Amino acid sequence: MNIILLGPPGAGKGTQARLLVERLGMIQLSTGDMLRAARRSGTEMGRRVADVMDKGHLVTDDIVIGLIRERLLQGDLGSGVIFDGFPRTLAQADALDDMLAREGLRLDHVVEMRVNDDEALVQRVSGRATCATCGEVYHDATKPIPDDGHCTKCSGTTFNRRGDDNADSMRTRLLAYYKETAPLVGYYYVKRLLRPVDGMGEIDQVAQEVEGILSASPLPGAAVRTA
Ligand code: AMP
Repeated sequence: MNIILLGPPGAGKGTQARLLVERLGMIQLSTGDMLRAARRSGTEMGRRVADVMDKGHLVTDDIVIGLIRERLLQGDLGSGVIFDGFPRTLAQADALDDMLAREGLRLDHVVEMRVNDDEALVQRVSGRATCATCGEVYHDATKPIPDDGHCTKCSGTTFNRRGDDNADSMRTRLLAYYKETAPLVGYYYVKRLLRPVDGMGEIDQVAQEVEGILSASPLPGAAVRTA
């Protein structure tokens, strides 16, 4: 079972992906995480994308397509892949179709996390921190890092804050989403792969909706390729 989580920044794609990894043994492929790892390890590519990411723009298609291609070629994809934050452009979606077909894989569902309140998204990402060890997500207003400085899940003591989790970058990220990524909603709708969920709901409620979708068979006629 291979799925895409589609939705604007702050919709909860990463949170839902982590739950699916825990519950179903799927593999999360987040291009954002891959790019941040490249930055941390100081690769030439990591240095090139740093400023673009911090400002909230999209990095070039060839870079992210290359990252996904490399990972798919490694195999070992667990019980299926969750594409989180990829594809984000029509060119990336076409490339994903080709890459999956070449590996003999198919897309089963594209879960669209619908959100109708941009201000809520800005609030969600501003003040966000994640545990560097297990990825548990905290928020200064709604779920602060415990006073003792230990992650509630793994007891880790290091927390990361993203350089692009601020109101300025969020405006650019949201614009990029509506301009470049939102057309994918129509793209996957005509392929009969689109499954909308209410991204404004509570985490558990959204997770239930997502699991309900995953346990249903793909609709007849669903296909990876239109050609
Ligand atoms: P994310 O962690 O998915 O919010 O991604 C963080 C940032 O990484 C984005 O704002 C982009 O700058 C870059 N990025 C991640 N995935 C992609 C992608 N598929 N295409 C272009 N840029 C991406």
